[in-house]
Amino acid sequence: MTALTQIIARQIAKTGPITLAEYMTTCLLHPQHGYYTTRDPLGAAGDFTTAPEISQMFGELLGLCLAQAWMDQGAPDHFILAELGPGRGSLMQDALRATARVPGFHAAAELHLVEASPTLRAEQAKRLGGHTPIWHDQISDLPEAPLFLIANEFFDALPIRQFTRAEEGWRETMIGLQDDTLRPGLSDAAPVAALAHRLNDTKPGDLVETCAPASGTAAQIGARIAAHGGAALIIDYGDWRTLGDTLQALQDHQPTDPFAAPGQADLTAHVDFEALAQAAAPACHTKLTPQGVFLERLGITPRAQALARNLQGASLEDHIAAHRRLTHPAEMGSLFKTLALFPKGAPPPPGLET
Ligand code: SAH
Repeated sequence: MTALTQIIARQIAKTGPITLAEYMTTCLLHPQHGYYTTRDPLGAAGDFTTAPEISQMFGELLGLCLAQAWMDQGAPDHFILAELGPGRGSLMQDALRATARVPGFHAAAELHLVEASPTLRAEQAKRLGGHTPIWHDQISDLPEAPLFLIANEFFDALPIRQFTRAEEGWRETMIGLQDDTLRPGLSDAAPVAALAHRLNDTKPGDLVETCAPASGTAAQIGARIAAHGGAALIIDYGDWRTLGDTLQALQDHQPTDPFAAPGQADLTAHVDFEALAQAAAPACHTKLTPQGVFLERLGITPRAQALARNLQGASLEDHIAAHRRLTHPAEMGSLFKTLALFPKGAPPPPGLET
């Protein structure tokens, strides 16, 4: 048994089976043994790779998209430039480099990063130290001001709960202990008020997921944007409404059993963008748009061609592969999607429509 398996097993022995959300929180964020707290999981040597680690073009285009939204809202002379779960800080580094020549943008920006992992905060400080970022544990700590925000692969890391529909009510997935092994089981059926809207599109046996921290975060973003102006670009895998078990564990770029080695594998779930959009009201939201379509509209192909002029051999091949990986429907282009939030009366951020 690993140290974290023992900690979870002891808790279950004391209080009974725990929810999937409690399990995920401990696996990902336990102060000594949590997945994010103890390592930098990104890149070829880690467990997974993300769009900003694949190519600089991703952060550049997202930065310019936010800068255009800022200009469309009258270029407020003081605003919060925020990122949720900035990983290694690569996305923000590319965004800041690309926007350096947008008149007034950097002078007006105050950089805020919401990051739970001390290891990744250190990586972010290496790349973004020159911009004096201010770190926060949670979004509610952001100051009240116009908010221009990016979240790439942040919401998929937040803890979910799973419910299987019964003839009457819902049975929740609970993690228990069987012969010293962590195993998921189902609670007795009970009504769940938060799932009233899923009674029409589900039948007994169907599984649905909820993510209270995701809705809470979207509500904070939406309230700030509605009150002070701003825009949020949320990019992740998922769909307008998710159905079925989407919990996924990745270790060394391979899928693995989410309950086999807690704290050793990345745990994620698909994002339910409908829940985010609803929680963010009164802010407006755009249509959910495939990442490939969004990046093409922002001009990734001319940008890729401009960068290609200075490359040759293996680095040119890598660059062409990266462009394809970010945009092609068979790679990240369709699985990943973008939702933007913006205030009433302002246009949606470039590349997105209502
Ligand atoms: N956006 C980056 C990293 C994605 S990985 C990229 O695209 O490369 C998820 C990120 O969210 C990591 O930085 C992780 O430490 C952070 N994170 C996960 N759960 C969090 C939480 N509850 N609060 C704050 N940060 C969290």
